[in-house]
Amino acid sequence: MTTDRPITGADLAHERSDAAAQATDGPTVIPVALVDAPYPVVVGRDLPEVLTAIDLPAGAATALVVTQEPVVAAGHVDLVETALRDAGLTVHRHLVRDGEVAKDADTLAQLWQVCADVPLTRGDLVVAVGGGVVGDLAGFLAATWNRGVAVLQVPTTLLAQVDAAIGGKTGINLGGGKNLVGAFHQPIAVACAVDTLATLSPRIRTEGLGEVVKCGLIADPGILDLLETCAADVLAGDPELLQELVVRSAQVKAAVVAADEREGGIRAHLNLGHTYGHAVESLTGYSEVLHGEAVAIGTVVALRIGQRLGCTPDDLVERADALLARLGLPTRGPALDREQVWSVIGRDKKVTRDGVRWVLLEGLAMPTVQAVDRADVDAVLDDLLA
Ligand code: NAD
Repeated sequence: MTTDRPITGADLAHERSDAAAQATDGPTVIPVALVDAPYPVVVGRDLPEVLTAIDLPAGAATALVVTQEPVVAAGHVDLVETALRDAGLTVHRHLVRDGEVAKDADTLAQLWQVCADVPLTRGDLVVAVGGGVVGDLAGFLAATWNRGVAVLQVPTTLLAQVDAAIGGKTGINLGGGKNLVGAFHQPIAVACAVDTLATLSPRIRTEGLGEVVKCGLIADPGILDLLETCAADVLAGDPELLQELVVRSAQVKAAVVAADEREGGIRAHLNLGHTYGHAVESLTGYSEVLHGEAVAIGTVVALRIGQRLGCTPDDLVERADALLARLGLPTRGPALDREQVWSVIGRDKKVTRDGVRWVLLEGLAMPTVQAVDRADVDAVLDDLLA
């Protein structure tokens, strides 16, 4: 690709990476290359096509589908169950309450009882069909039932397809905080059908773009080029563009997870925007500001901190800020009590003698983790929220 003129949508349409080019020709299979339990992320247009490309565990006789009412109403659950029955499985469905409230101990206890009643045995399968809430909850059910059974993740929100369903983090919330009880439990596969995204509300689909932009910033600048050139079509839900964005973002996540499954090192880079983002979510009750929106605000904060420290180039800060705003994601506020912000960050993150460690960018696709003084963070927040 030449760079002596602005990149156009036509350039991007013609000059795709090999993997992204497959996105228009059928499902793309992205390996999550873990040594002990490698698995595929399969990205395609519709659920039957994607599910056909997935191998189910040979010994499984029964599948417990965990889902929520809006996903059933949208017609996605019937398609998944038909594919499971066609593969010879007996299928049981259990609906949990909609929203983050479902990620709690009471719901998990009900699900354990459902597993006992079915009964779901050691060789059987849990299938999570829904957004990140269902994925985290059903994943933790699978991690704990019978000391661990297989789970197939079928994410149906953009946020879950590009992030939550990949990597094996599962868990539930307690009154005192999010994801406080959980386990690493990798799925047998992740089945992403971008047609399922057509039934999301515009706000929930846009929210997922917060994580897509993050993947572009930490590892794949081509994602940013694509979003900048085709923002309006992406926001309108163009399935071909969404498929390419899901493929590229899933490639970023899969590569990072394969290199550092338990977040001992570079997996922390996926937390760009999450340090301040978590504080925003927590202090607004996990409903006013959605996860991907909070990550967008947190990303701007992290980039401005890097800029203040002389680490992040000015043009990168301006570029990210402008792109997030163009996608309709929040880049400022809400105004929060500063002491409460620090209390959440202190609970959430490792605090060293030099300060809290933040993911910053030394340049595009150049993430770094650095301890930052509270005074520098406060100065950035004062400036941004003025
Ligand atoms: P969500 O799961 O609450 O889904 C949002 C809403 O969309 C819900 O009402 C749901 O019923 C509905 N929905 C889902 N798919 C639909 C479809 N195709 N059509 C119509 N409606 C549909 O929200 P989310 O943003 O997907 O996930 C947020 C959760 O993900 C949080 O709990 C967060 O902690 C978790 N998360 C986990 C990880 C991880 O690595 N495990 C990473 C990021 C976020």
